[in-house]
Amino acid sequence: MARGRYLFISDLHLDASAPGAIELFQLFLREVAAGSHGLYILGDLFETWIGDDDDEPARSGACEALARLTATGVPCWVQHGNRDFLLGSGFTARTGCRLLPDPLLLELGGRRIAVSHGDLLCLGDTGYQDFRAMVRSPSFQRGYLALPLATRRDIAGIARKASSKHTRQLREDIADVEPGAVAALLRTARADLLIHGHTHRPAEHRLTVDGRACTRVVLPDWHEGGGYLALDEAGNYTLATLTAGTPE
Ligand code: MN
Repeated sequence: MARGRYLFISDLHLDASAPGAIELFQLFLREVAAGSHGLYILGDLFETWIGDDDDEPARSGACEALARLTATGVPCWVQHGNRDFLLGSGFTARTGCRLLPDPLLLELGGRRIAVSHGDLLCLGDTGYQDFRAMVRSPSFQRGYLALPLATRRDIAGIARKASSKHTRQLREDIADVEPGAVAALLRTARADLLIHGHTHRPAEHRLTVDGRACTRVVLPDWHEGGGYLALDEAGNYTLATLTAGTPE
């Protein structure tokens, strides 16, 4: 069990095409997250999200599992990823989760911790940053969400095929973070720990910002197995790997 800890996951990319990840997520919620102080999902929980009214069974099942967790009193906070940036108030109503800004600053045990999906830090990919600015604009989102569900699903399918051939399996398609953007975030937040996902390059990086020793932890994706970061109340973290059938 994980009492006394806050858990951090990202990049599950849940989709009917990958039933193993959905099963592992449900197991993780029941066996690991259920005993925690709270769960932070740092973006790309879903491979695509075409609107809160989506009734697709795999996504509905994941939402119901989250609702069961939050109903037991375990809070769950969600940041938008570049895949599920349309998660909105209908999603929070369905799941009991709360949406978070990106980046987010946490304070735990006197430690300041910056938390982000991570796509904002990939400034080298200017094509993607332009795309991000467009799809995050209220007018784009209003226009898209006004379309019938089936049309939105078709558009998302086309966009997914066009942008990459299964990005979650090919991390070469995803730009890495800009060191300058990482340093700027840690400096502005006056944090010494940054937790993010998005790049599918799980690692612990040590760096120095303005003479301060900092750590950047990149969370793993859930393409083959998964993993999470657990943060205790003193602000110390541990990393754990999940493989199908054996959480913890
Ligand atoms: Mn992402």
